[in-house]
Amino acid sequence: MDQLIEWDKKHFIHPTSSIRDQQEKGAKVIFEKGEGIYLTDKNGKKYIDAMSSLWNVNIGHGRKELGEAARQQMDQLAFSSAFSTFSHEPTIQLAKKIADLAPSNLNAIFFTSGGSESNDSAFKLVRHYWRIQGQPERNKIVSLKRGYHGVAAGATSATGIPEFWDMAGQLQSGFVHAATPYWEGTQGSIKSIREVIEAEGPETIAAFIAEPIQGAGGVLVPPSDYFQEIRKLCDDYGIVFIADEVITGFGRTGTMFGLEHSGVQPDMMTFAKGVTSGYFPLGGVIVSDQIHGVLKEKSMGTLFHGFTYSGHPTAAAVALKNIEIIEKEGLVENSRKMGELLLEGFKKLKADLQIIGDVRGVGLLGAVELMEDPSANKRFSPELKVAGKVIEALHQRGVICRAVAYEGTDIICFSPPLVIKEEEVKTLLEKLREAISEVA
Ligand code: PLP
Repeated sequence: MDQLIEWDKKHFIHPTSSIRDQQEKGAKVIFEKGEGIYLTDKNGKKYIDAMSSLWNVNIGHGRKELGEAARQQMDQLAFSSAFSTFSHEPTIQLAKKIADLAPSNLNAIFFTSGGSESNDSAFKLVRHYWRIQGQPERNKIVSLKRGYHGVAAGATSATGIPEFWDMAGQLQSGFVHAATPYWEGTQGSIKSIREVIEAEGPETIAAFIAEPIQGAGGVLVPPSDYFQEIRKLCDDYGIVFIADEVITGFGRTGTMFGLEHSGVQPDMMTFAKGVTSGYFPLGGVIVSDQIHGVLKEKSMGTLFHGFTYSGHPTAAAVALKNIEIIEKEGLVENSRKMGELLLEGFKKLKADLQIIGDVRGVGLLGAVELMEDPSANKRFSPELKVAGKVIEALHQRGVICRAVAYEGTDIICFSPPLVIKEEEVKTLLEKLREAISEVA
């Protein structure tokens, strides 16, 4: 164990981490196995994985069927190219399956290995779409403050959380941000987007991108009329609407895709995470029939965009098995039902514990927001790191959650595996009550 910690410090640069902390403290937990909603570390301590790790292990840990699907596919054909006119059956089957699940106007898929690659691919595809129609000046992307779209060059630039730009500077030009509806309401956000578009020049705007629910920004649920208004706004200006369903896709919010709650169809949708529940890296962009039609008609020569793993047969086999499990076991429905229980529990906690300012949730994507004085809308001083302390108290009790503390907020996020059961939701809520009570 000591040796592992030493090698971890010396050789492993952790993603999204404090390199200094890692050097000083070493790995806090070395996970060894997972089953259902639980993870166990090398010391035998068991945790509820209340974040589905990174909002992605939708079917829960330890599902042997996925390993079996990967093994069978690897035995037969682990990998071959999908470039140009090469193809293979699992990826064709998966494209068809996703087209069947997605909104009826979205039927063609470009595959990637994750969410960031998907969003960067969407930005390139949408710029290409305008170029081949003789409008190369339409190249800017509008996104929302507190939105999170990943860490590749375009995805970082579209992300509306400034902390992500500090590391290497704003990576790309042509990305502009408008107010989130969570704090500004539908009309406030729409007004802000219109102002941004007018200031930049509507003829320079290629697309608008948003998550149906802002996840990493703090599970910020928009008002129910928001995406209807977004659809109208995008149609008014003739701009492409990209839904980033990387977290909300594949059952997370109690529907197959998050935007289904508003009944709105986007022009492009990006996905990743829940498509394989993390058992294999995979993501993609689904484009509308209209966009696909323009690409087919006007895109000349080679589309110079393709990752080695765009259309990985083993990833596709794993995704097909994962989606089969989601459907067979009714996990979308379970997400809705257990999400209702979780939200009800959050509401009870809010009634009892004075420092809870807001609770929210759609399906199994939820959050509890802490405030020093909710009646005065007064937040805690950031130096107190209140959310961080609650996360630590949860950790001590064997629950893994995530704190969001941007712009002085103290938010505890929840995104448990969709297989969670009623008793487990209750345990989670009890531990949350204890942890918050201990801190304040
Ligand atoms: N988009 C959203 C909404 C996300 O939450 C994430 C990751 O958390 C991404 C994109 C980036 O995905 P990845 O980390 O797979 O690149």
